[in-house]
Amino acid sequence: MKITANFDSGNIKVIKLDTPDDIQVQINKDNQSDFYQWFHFRLQTQAMIEHKITITNAGGAAYVGGWENYQAVASYDRETWFRVDTEFDGQNLAISHVPDYDSVYYAYFAPYSYERHMDLIHQCQLSFDCKVVDLGQTLDGRDMTMLVIGEPGEGKKKVWVTARQHPGETMAEWFIEGFLSRLLDEEDATAKALLNEAVFYVVPNMNPDGSVRGHLRTNAAGANLNREWKEPTMERSPEVFLVREQMMKIGLDMNLDIHGDEALPYNFVAGSEGVPEYNDRIKGMEDVFKSTYLTTTPDFQDVKGYPKDAPGSADLTIATNWIANNFKTLSFTIEMPFKDNVELPDAAYGRSDVRSSKFGHDVLPAILATVRHIS
Ligand code: ZN
Repeated sequence: MKITANFDSGNIKVIKLDTPDDIQVQINKDNQSDFYQWFHFRLQTQAMIEHKITITNAGGAAYVGGWENYQAVASYDRETWFRVDTEFDGQNLAISHVPDYDSVYYAYFAPYSYERHMDLIHQCQLSFDCKVVDLGQTLDGRDMTMLVIGEPGEGKKKVWVTARQHPGETMAEWFIEGFLSRLLDEEDATAKALLNEAVFYVVPNMNPDGSVRGHLRTNAAGANLNREWKEPTMERSPEVFLVREQMMKIGLDMNLDIHGDEALPYNFVAGSEGVPEYNDRIKGMEDVFKSTYLTTTPDFQDVKGYPKDAPGSADLTIATNWIANNFKTLSFTIEMPFKDNVELPDAAYGRSDVRSSKFGHDVLPAILATVRHIS
C-alpha cells in the first residue's frame, strides 16, 4: 500500500500503513497556524477488500462539530466525488471503504484545483463581456486575478463577488463556476438583464496559496484572510490588501463573499446586522435578496444559520462586516455545507460540487431583484 499527498491541495501525514483494516493518518496544520481540517490524499492498494482509514488527530481539528454526521468523499477518476462511510468517536475520524479500483483519492470535499481555477479564468476571458484583470501577487508568487464582467457605465450598479478566502472551502469556487457560467451565457435572459444594469467584479479565488498548499483556513503566512479586512498589509495579507484597494477605487453597491461551513448542514446567508452603519436600507436590500433566492432554489433557506450580531458589536476585521460598514450597503456571506443538506439529502453524493455550482447558477435572480430594488 502507498499513500501520497504531494500534489495540488494535498494534505495528509501517514502514521501507520501496515494492514488495510488499520491505516492511521493525521492532517497537517496550515503553515504558521494551528488550524487544520482539510485533507486530500491518494491511496494505492488492492481493490475489493475492506479498508479502514483513521484520521487520529480529527478531535483537535478547527471545527470538531464538523465531523458529526459527516461523510468523506472519494473518487476514482478525480471528476466524480462520492460519499463513503465515515464515523467520528470524539477523537478519531474513521473512513470505511471497499475500493472498486486499486487507486483512489479521498478528500474533505470535492477539490477545486489550481489548474481548474486558471482554466476557469481563461475560459471566461473568451466571453465578449469579460475582462481578466491582474491585481498583483501572493506571498508564494501566484497571481491575484479579478474578472470584470459587463460594460461600466453611468448609473450601473457595481456588484462584487469574492470566494475562497478560506481555501479548504472548495464549494465556494464550485459556486463561482456555476455563477459565472450563467452570467456569461448570452442566451440567459436574467444574465442579459443583469449586465444591462450592473457590472460585476469577481475574484474566484481569494487565497490561491492556501488552496495549493492544502490549507483549511489561512494563506501562506498563516493569516486568516477573513480577519484581515480592517488593516490588511502587503507583508501578511496581500490578497485582502489588493482586493480591498480595488473596491475603494472602483466602488461597491453590493457584495457577496462565498464560503463553506463545517458544522451546519444547510445553505444560508450571514449579514451585517452588527455593524455601526447598518440601517433600514440595508435590511430592505437583504430582504429582497433572501426572498428572491428562496423562490429560485429549495437548497436555500433562511431559518437556520449563525446567531445575528447585536447592534454595534460586529467584528470589522471580517470582510462582510467591513464592506457593509465602509460602503453602507448590502454585504452577505453565503455559506454552504461540507455535510449533506439535511433538508434535501443525497446518500450517494451529499451536498456536492455539482450542487454547489447549481446554487451559484441560481443566485442570479436574487442579485437582479436586489439591483433593481436599489436602482
Ligand atoms: Zn469560510
